Amino acid sequence: MDPYMRHLLSLFTGIEQEGGTGKYLGLPECFSGSKRDFMQFISDSLKSRLSGWYEKTLSLRGLLAKQGWRLLDSPNSLVTRVYKAKYFENVPFFEARIGYKPSYAWRSIMFGRELLEKGVMKSIGNGQDTRVWLDKWVFDDRPRRPFNKELTIDLNLNVSTLIQDDGGWNPQTLHDLFPPCEIPRFRSFPPAQHLHDRYVWAFTQNGQYTVKSGNWLLSQESDILNPISTDMIRVNKVKIWVLETAIEPKIRLFLCRALSQALAVAECMSSHGLSISPLCLVCHVEDETITHVLFSCPLARGVWSATGLPTPAQGFSNSVVDNVSLILNFMKQAEIAEGTRQAIPWILWGIWKAHNDVVFTQRDQDSHVIVALAIEEAEEWLKQQTLISQATNRDANRHVQHVHR
Ligand SMILES: [Zn+2]
Repeated sequence: MDPYMRHLLSLFTGIEQEGGTGKYLGLPECFSGSKRDFMQFISDSLKSRLSGWYEKTLSLRGLLAKQGWRLLDSPNSLVTRVYKAKYFENVPFFEARIGYKPSYAWRSIMFGRELLEKGVMKSIGNGQDTRVWLDKWVFDDRPRRPFNKELTIDLNLNVSTLIQDDGGWNPQTLHDLFPPCEIPRFRSFPPAQHLHDRYVWAFTQNGQYTVKSGNWLLSQESDILNPISTDMIRVNKVKIWVLETAIEPKIRLFLCRALSQALAVAECMSSHGLSISPLCLVCHVEDETITHVLFSCPLARGVWSATGLPTPAQGFSNSVVDNVSLILNFMKQAEIAEGTRQAIPWILWGIWKAHNDVVFTQRDQDSHVIVALAIEEAEEWLKQQTLISQATNRDANRHVQHVHR
């Protein structure tokens, strides 16, 4: 193995030991016999490393947000007063700057504040400490500021001006300031005039921040924060669906591997230092990625068009997850012929096999034949499953009758 590659692998997989008996870089010796097992191993190790690292940064932010939450939740505590005097004497906590020569603790609080900003809102008491247009005090699925009706707004307006003497919302003021769609929302939380406004965390029952709910919110927001993890969440969703659907085990495994980018395609192997041309050996035009093989290679496109499925007119995307989930979604669409619909995993498998046939045995198959075979195989397998489950039910019934006798 290329020394540079070996170094990278050891960094990512944590395997530094080399040589010895039976193992090479911690890999089972047999890996030289199967590139697929090898790729699977690398892919799994990389993934657990990356997700471990990601989880660590997540829970760190979740933890540090807790420090900031204490400042918000106990505005009169000594600690809060010290920080306030030093870093945000005349402004709200959320407008505090990192400042000149910040302490390590303050920098950590600022880091955690980014998470708090997403989930903290004002709970309205007498409305005197909440600014109508600058603070978040409305909740849809996230805390937000209310929408305004007029273009000119008074930034200093306090929520207390919306409250009338009897302690309820003033309907006329609400009508003047907010669009009609916004008003029913206010009615769902009447002000509590005998209380002060306070900060609440919007994602727990009691309004108190917890590290767990903070991490949950982060994982929801992760599309912005970390593309790897969003992709993982999406991949896992599709994988779960694959696991729960009646699919022949070998095909299920194949789909999971496709979703984990763990099929032995040229691009994958060459990016791991195996000297293989990344070009697709069927069309010799594009790189042989998983998505190319299964969706955009002329071979695959021929098969998809032979299925008659409503594939996207602008062509498939570059993302395996997008394409696989799009295709698997057709399985749920009743207007598509049942035979084709239920055979979709088999069709994917058929394309993969046909691709390898061309590469390794130069055997070329008509796309209509590939589809017909997939439909037939799926039907056959599903029929067997029905028979098996009927037989099991019969046995179970017999057992029940036996017990009753
Ligand atoms: Zn190709």
